[in-house]
Amino acid sequence: SKMFVRHGSLVFNKAFVNGSFIDADSRKQFNVVNPATGEVITPVPDMDVSDVEKTITLAHDAFKEWKNTTAKERGIVLRKWYNLLVEHQEELARIITSEAGKPYKESLGEVAYGNSFIDWFAEESRRINGEVIPSPVKSKRIVLIKQPIGVVGLITPWNFPHAMITRKAGAALAAGCTCVVKPAEDTPLTALALAALADQAGLPKGVLNVITCDRSNAPAVGKLLCESPLTAGISFTGSTAVGKILYQQCASGVKKVAFELGGNAPFIVFNSATIEKAVEGAIACKFRNSGQTCVSANRIFVQDKVFSQFVGALKEAMDKCLKIGKTEDCNVGPLINEAQMNKVSSLVDDAVSKGAKVLLGGKKAQSHGSLFYEPTLLTDVTPDMLCAKEEIFGPIAVCYKFKTEDEVIAAANDVRVGLAGYFYSNDIGQIWRVAEQLEVGMVGVNEGIISTAEAAFGGVKESGIGREGSHHGIDEFTDVKYICFGNL
Ligand code: ADP
Repeated sequence: SKMFVRHGSLVFNKAFVNGSFIDADSRKQFNVVNPATGEVITPVPDMDVSDVEKTITLAHDAFKEWKNTTAKERGIVLRKWYNLLVEHQEELARIITSEAGKPYKESLGEVAYGNSFIDWFAEESRRINGEVIPSPVKSKRIVLIKQPIGVVGLITPWNFPHAMITRKAGAALAAGCTCVVKPAEDTPLTALALAALADQAGLPKGVLNVITCDRSNAPAVGKLLCESPLTAGISFTGSTAVGKILYQQCASGVKKVAFELGGNAPFIVFNSATIEKAVEGAIACKFRNSGQTCVSANRIFVQDKVFSQFVGALKEAMDKCLKIGKTEDCNVGPLINEAQMNKVSSLVDDAVSKGAKVLLGGKKAQSHGSLFYEPTLLTDVTPDMLCAKEEIFGPIAVCYKFKTEDEVIAAANDVRVGLAGYFYSNDIGQIWRVAEQLEVGMVGVNEGIISTAEAAFGGVKESGIGREGSHHGIDEFTDVKYICFGNL
């Protein structure tokens, strides 16, 4: 039943359910489009609630056996999957580039990063330890064990079509859960390729399912994943708005939730900073994936004494290091879709109309394709401008001048979200103070790239609940069970 479409052996035009590639019962499909060229790559099934209901039931059946495998058995399958992911890294990267528009070198980087979660959780599966706790009474013993929660719904975004799935599925599978993955409608092909390789690795049928559906079916499918009595929890990465809807839907069944939502990362450059390093960090942190990551530097605050030096150096580095286009030597690709393009260009136009200064870029780069936007540098941005409040999700660097540490901490924290925060300083006292006071889940100190499977990824405030990666990532997929041995 496997269908091969262009590119090679890992592009599928069917959903993956219970170990087979299948169509939607309705036979409906939607197109996956290359954002760099506008070309249709392939149609995939547009599954609806009834398809997904069946999938959940199959995942629930699979759970009955998967939960009884040993940690070592699960680790071995995950290891095999990891080895296959490494073997196919170039093809996976090509798929990511074709459906997400990510520059190829960056896609290879995402594959390495995404694969590392399977590597990590192949090991972590054997360390889901319980506890033996000293009892206050002689006749009793207290034991805590950790058990998989059941079928989990994994709903993922388009900006990391590979890593956002492996980060969740690696932990869920290591814990002994079975998964129904609903990838973003823009990027389902990477998800299907991952599932095919998991199948090849020997993951039993029904343990990892990928259902594809278009945006119009996403709300109903998401609701079912939250409310079905056969699901135990949801792990979601995406917008805060959708996260809030899912949180509400999960309340009805008191489901476990793990959410990675929007951010609005401050990137602070203090007077004592090594400017060259700060510029390097800002380029990496701001322009990776054309600014379309939830940990991208969204507000660059620069202290008064180094403001003009930093902004000048950033402008020069942007000019020198960033190359827009679709070829392999380019590092700024297209935005994902028209909605994102409209948002980014309207944020810039709004700022400019209210008096912001454009030092670089400031417009669409139509000659490369309809979804390319020039790397842009803005200053003189005031609080009334939309780009000062919203997550930009595009290649737009906005620099603000500040005077004191207290003032910048207040400004950095004056938002309802808190995912990542970055700052550059060589003052050790300041480093501790600021790292502790930033209201975020992750801090980069003199560093612009912080994600790794070994560390805990996640946010505070409206940026989410729970952590992914590290040993904490497993907690979202396990319940603690207390067993009391009495009358000894
Ligand atoms: P983005 O702005 O990155 O597209 P979204 O939160 O809109 O972020 O999308 C992230 C994921 O959530 C995608 O897989 C999308 O299809 C899915 N999604 C969108 N709306 C809903 C919804 N109402 N319920 C469940 N999933 C949804």
